[in-house]
Amino acid sequence: MKPIQSTLKAWMQKNESFKDNYVKIRNEVLNDPEIKEFLSLHPNLSQEEINKSLIKLYEYTTQSKQCDQCASYGSCKNMVPGYSPILHVEKDEIRLSYEKCHSRVMYEKEREQQKLIQSLHVPKEILQASMIDIINDESRIEAIAELLDFLDQAKTKLPSKGLYFHGQFGVGKTYLLGALANELKKLGLSSTLIYMPEFVREIKASFKDDSTNEKIDYFKKADVLMLDDIGAELQSAWFRDEILGSVLQYRMMERLPVFFTSNYDLEQLELQLATTKSGVESVKAGRIIERIRQVSKPVKMDGPNRRL
Ligand code: ADP
Ligand code: MG
Repeated sequence: MKPIQSTLKAWMQKNESFKDNYVKIRNEVLNDPEIKEFLSLHPNLSQEEINKSLIKLYEYTTQSKQCDQCASYGSCKNMVPGYSPILHVEKDEIRLSYEKCHSRVMYEKEREQQKLIQSLHVPKEILQASMIDIINDESRIEAIAELLDFLDQAKTKLPSKGLYFHGQFGVGKTYLLGALANELKKLGLSSTLIYMPEFVREIKASFKDDSTNEKIDYFKKADVLMLDDIGAELQSAWFRDEILGSVLQYRMMERLPVFFTSNYDLEQLELQLATTKSGVESVKAGRIIERIRQVSKPVKMDGPNRRL
């Protein structure tokens, strides 16, 4: 057993260094410019309360405030990443709380906005399409004017009609939809952009897990539906009447806009839709064209092939 004297001495020494340390930290904390400012704003705080809250004040000094020490949300150095400390006084007591920092708020907003564009297999350049590239493009003035008009109206109320862009391969029809989706995103409106052959495959694949109705519902109810390259899908009478027909019918009744792109104008598309394995059914194709007219306005696009 150690003699009691030496134990006591050791304890005293330890305590001494603890005390030194405490005094040092206390001085550092109380001399921190932000703490000084905080205390000067609250002159009524008692010395006892300040001493009691030293650990909170110390914690405050070690944290990055509203991203002042971090470049991005990903590199946040705080105890709880993405949260910034705030000191305040409540009932004469010092309180330390945390609120979301700017970077985290922005990060969450961007993620939320990204979720607003639902697209299946859309090339990245289309998802990054920007309205600025388009506005500078003089060869598609009519299409751009219509698009800007739509966006303008969407700021107050989503118009019931979208646009049917038709023209040669490569003139930038799909790109225009991408740019529109990005603008709508800023207004908090979601777009569902799907390439027609993919739409057919998606519905067929849903037979396996019985999710067909759920999928169809999703296309019926999307804020803005964008059907890319209509006419490029393999024609099936069943898809045309049961799926496309019913999605368009629903959107027409609910006054929800649909955008299309196609290499065909509406007359050509009618012929295309009429011819399936089941033969030529002009009446049924005519019915689809009629619905397309109800949910969108045709706009011809000219210009050079940008894929060359
Ligand atoms: P379409 O759908 O009419 O066949 P796309 O929209 O796919 O044509 O455009 C063809 C190519 O040109 C794509 O690579 C697209 O990214 C590019 N493109 C189209 N319009 C623009 C534009 N305004 N600014 C920059 N690139 C564009
Ligand atoms: Mg296209």
